[in-house]
Amino acid sequence: MDNYYFGRTGNNYGSYGSGSRRRRRRGPGPLLPLLLVLLLILLIAGVAFGVKKLRGAKPDKPESSVTETAEGAGGENPEETVPEVTKTALEEIMEKAERLSLMYDYDEAIRLISENEEASASEEGKAAVAKYEELKAACVRQDISQITHVFFHILIPEDSMDKVFDGDKEQRGYNLVMTTETEFRRILQSMYDRGFVLVRLHDMAYEVDDPENGGKKMVEGDIMLPEGKKGFVMSQDDVCYYEYMEDDGFANRLVIGEDGRVTTQRDYEDGTSDIGSYDLIPILNDFIDEHPDFSYRGAKAVIAVTGYNGVFGYRTDTAYEGVNPNIEEDKKKVTEIARALRADGWELASHSWGHRYYGQISMSDLQADNGKWQERVAPLIEGSDIIIYAFGDDVADWHPYKTENERFMLLWRSGFRYFCNVDSNRVWVQKGNDYLRQGRRNLDGQRMWQDLSTGSDHLSDLFDVKEVFDQGRPTPVE
Ligand SMILES: [Zn+2]
Repeated sequence: MDNYYFGRTGNNYGSYGSGSRRRRRRGPGPLLPLLLVLLLILLIAGVAFGVKKLRGAKPDKPESSVTETAEGAGGENPEETVPEVTKTALEEIMEKAERLSLMYDYDEAIRLISENEEASASEEGKAAVAKYEELKAACVRQDISQITHVFFHILIPEDSMDKVFDGDKEQRGYNLVMTTETEFRRILQSMYDRGFVLVRLHDMAYEVDDPENGGKKMVEGDIMLPEGKKGFVMSQDDVCYYEYMEDDGFANRLVIGEDGRVTTQRDYEDGTSDIGSYDLIPILNDFIDEHPDFSYRGAKAVIAVTGYNGVFGYRTDTAYEGVNPNIEEDKKKVTEIARALRADGWELASHSWGHRYYGQISMSDLQADNGKWQERVAPLIEGSDIIIYAFGDDVADWHPYKTENERFMLLWRSGFRYFCNVDSNRVWVQKGNDYLRQGRRNLDGQRMWQDLSTGSDHLSDLFDVKEVFDQGRPTPVE
């Protein structure tokens, strides 16, 4: 098992400086009045258009309109929308069904059409149902013991290479454990081209009632994919945007975008900030929007968080009481973001509170650290049954977990059922009677450089390292 690092263990909260930093969006400045007038015109035109459409519509056919956010509002009026294309209810159902089928959810696609009188009676609807039945029948069950799991840290944005690799004391660590945006995009494309499909840990296995023993047991999931497709799990560690990473060009926090989905905000040294695709979550969302067949029934990745610097870039830990003036508001934001992530196919995980070695620290330290995560992080993200060991430091060797293992039992009693370490094997899955355990592969500078420079092969099932490795990195990566 690889020894792995990234986060800092806690205990230095001193430099929290966001209280004095004023944040503002990059706004249009003097252009604002002009834009508002333009917006008003668009709005009036939009209303007139909508009324005309309504007049033409038959009263028994509800019409829903697809709206698009108005451009040029400078972020000040995110609610303003302009109706653009009006689709019939039938068209909308057929489109939704098609998207579901692309994500391998044929049952749901068929149900959607069957439940609608107009759709199920139409030639188009009948043909689609027949097609989905055929596609469903051709699917094969995934062998969960063959499902690989890859992971990343915070991505290095393409336009931040100079800032991240500016020769400061953090540079070496970033180069080793992080993946650049360029590499991440290449990896997604390669894995997509090779037939990989994202699945959830909860798709691989899940708990069901076990009447024989009076409790619950873990059973293998039936992941059904077309022949040639390969399920895989993705995770991202340390999605806390730690203090030490501030002003190095990374995203600074997760936020909910205008479309209600989670995206990233980046803050600048001049006090401004903007929202964009600066990290894994929005980049993967965009990729799946474009390639829905990369996701099994909407599955995204697992997002793992510690607690010592707060969650998702918000300084919410108890240690920030009296330091972060917005702490209560920030806690609410974290909860909203956690809910939005889960609703959008993401899973959430503990990465310990203080980024601790759970296999090595004393039992009482383990208890205290997990206790802090349960008290200070779990309520904000509404719990989790997944643990992604910091440093990949598992609480046992490769043998199945035993009930005599008090570390395992402590975590299990805290509600964890999915346990992920770090392992350089292509695939490592262990399903116990009451847990699922999986090894994860780091797709970072260190791993890619090793394959590139020594000719070792840890990655060729996923991508060609020569094509993916970002030449903008400082080398050697050691
Ligand atoms: Zn970590």
